[in-house]
Amino acid sequence: MSNKVSCEIIKDMLPLYYDDVCSDESKRMVEEHLVGCPNCKNELDRLKADFILPKEEIETIRSDSNVIKNISSFWNQSKIKSFMKGMIISALLFSVINLGYFGLFNWQIISVSTDEVEIKNVSQLADSKIVYYAETNDGYSLNRLNYDMDKEGSFYITPLRPIIKREAQLHNGFENRYYSIDIKYQEKARGKVIKRIYYGTPKDKILIWEKGMDLPKASEEIENMFHE
Ligand SMILES: [Zn+2]
Repeated sequence: MSNKVSCEIIKDMLPLYYDDVCSDESKRMVEEHLVGCPNCKNELDRLKADFILPKEEIETIRSDSNVIKNISSFWNQSKIKSFMKGMIISALLFSVINLGYFGLFNWQIISVSTDEVEIKNVSQLADSKIVYYAETNDGYSLNRLNYDMDKEGSFYITPLRPIIKREAQLHNGFENRYYSIDIKYQEKARGKVIKRIYYGTPKDKILIWEKGMDLPKASEEIENMFHE
């Protein structure tokens, strides 16, 4: 076996050889050595196994996508190691998958149609907060209420749920319960006078209260519910 070059030198050169960034002459030298040296051949295999994406896979992605092809050739020019390519491609894939999951299950962007909602027992607590009972009857859970107010003084309480709905659990959640709304606090926080309160969105709404509307006093039971 011809081992003109020492294994130490070859091992130093293997990462460059693997990245295909050494000269043709060095490449030839490494290849000649590998033919006769199982140790260095193993070293190269180990190197390949260390990378998160096998080189063949990077090549496939590269040929699949012009964008990645361009990025890859840039990386080749600037001689950044394959390791970085693998890391970055993996990180990108991971964040895309993660975003998708997060978005579908947790993004609170779907409002509930008021066809499915009943607002009952609107009354006023002794401290002037307005109380109402909201019932959502489509069998899916709500995750959050969003408060918003427009320039005309319309205050919107919008029930939200993720894109992928979850089934409501009985008596456990936002679907069926009393809510209170503190008009004074909201007016102070927003620096605007609330003229009416809606449940829903500007396009699909149920009126809960408007200025001048007299509300019955909340029952003792309801008072107690909000003063625990
Ligand atoms: Zn060797």
